[in-house]
Amino acid sequence: MSAILLNNIKDVRNNIKAWKKEGFTIGLVPTMGALHAGHASLIKKAKETCDKVIVSVFVNPIQFGPNEDLDKYPRTLEADKKLCDELGCDIIFAPSPKEMYGADNKLSNTEFTFVCPPYNLVDCLCGKSRVGHFDGVATVVLKLFNITTPDKAFFGQKDAQQLFILTKMVKDLNLDLEIVPCPIVREDDGLALSSRNTYLSEEERKNALSISKALKEINSLYLNDVTDTKILFDTAISILNKNIELEYIEFRNFETFEKVEKASKNTLVAIAAKSGKTRLIDNIIL
Ligand code: AMP
Repeated sequence: MSAILLNNIKDVRNNIKAWKKEGFTIGLVPTMGALHAGHASLIKKAKETCDKVIVSVFVNPIQFGPNEDLDKYPRTLEADKKLCDELGCDIIFAPSPKEMYGADNKLSNTEFTFVCPPYNLVDCLCGKSRVGHFDGVATVVLKLFNITTPDKAFFGQKDAQQLFILTKMVKDLNLDLEIVPCPIVREDDGLALSSRNTYLSEEERKNALSISKALKEINSLYLNDVTDTKILFDTAISILNKNIELEYIEFRNFETFEKVEKASKNTLVAIAAKSGKTRLIDNIIL
């Protein structure tokens, strides 16, 4: 059966009302579209554990900075719909910015209610260069939760900081749903799948591969009892291709998000770097 494509909030709510009457559980997979096997893994997990699955496809303007790729972000709704049909998803919710925010232009926090996650979680890693990004993410995700009232929502560990912040939001704001973390899906050669990989030239892709290679090496050193993050950091630097522009390598406790000097079980090792003009992120949890 093919998925129903809905653009407005009212139609989504009507469908959900009918499902709730039947006692169905609902899984939500929030995405920005240009779906790939990483997204598919989330949708499959949702299908396994929920009666009904909604995939949202929305390139959320308020999470993009002024010099970021909002306009050129890949939009492939037809192909996304096909994949959702194949995976047996029930609804694709693909609203316009106007439907979500009542305006076509990008709204700021002087004219719209924003969700602001704790400062120490947003003022680090990706939030350092992407100021306001996580406020935009938390705001749209809370809106999607309110619109779709899911029992479970599925997020990739690929965006580890986002996953941590949203899990905290659910706890702090007493949201009645479960966040389900899903492992990173990679190409055979190790590159983490991302909608932004389509921007990469062959050369840039080759250089970008050094990010997952560095993470893999850190993991194997850790498994051989190397826990000093200075040594692990230097190893990563020696592996990262000289043509990529490193933004950060960070070691954080994935329960508290505090920086760690000594790696241990549940340490997040996160890297952000640009290959050409494309900003890429990847990580492992030791
Ligand atoms: P995006 O469309 O990039 O906003 O991603 C939507 C969801 O898919 C987020 O929860 C991401 O963490 C997740 N995701 C993106 N890439 C991957 C991947 N390679 N493996 C697993 N999940 C992913």
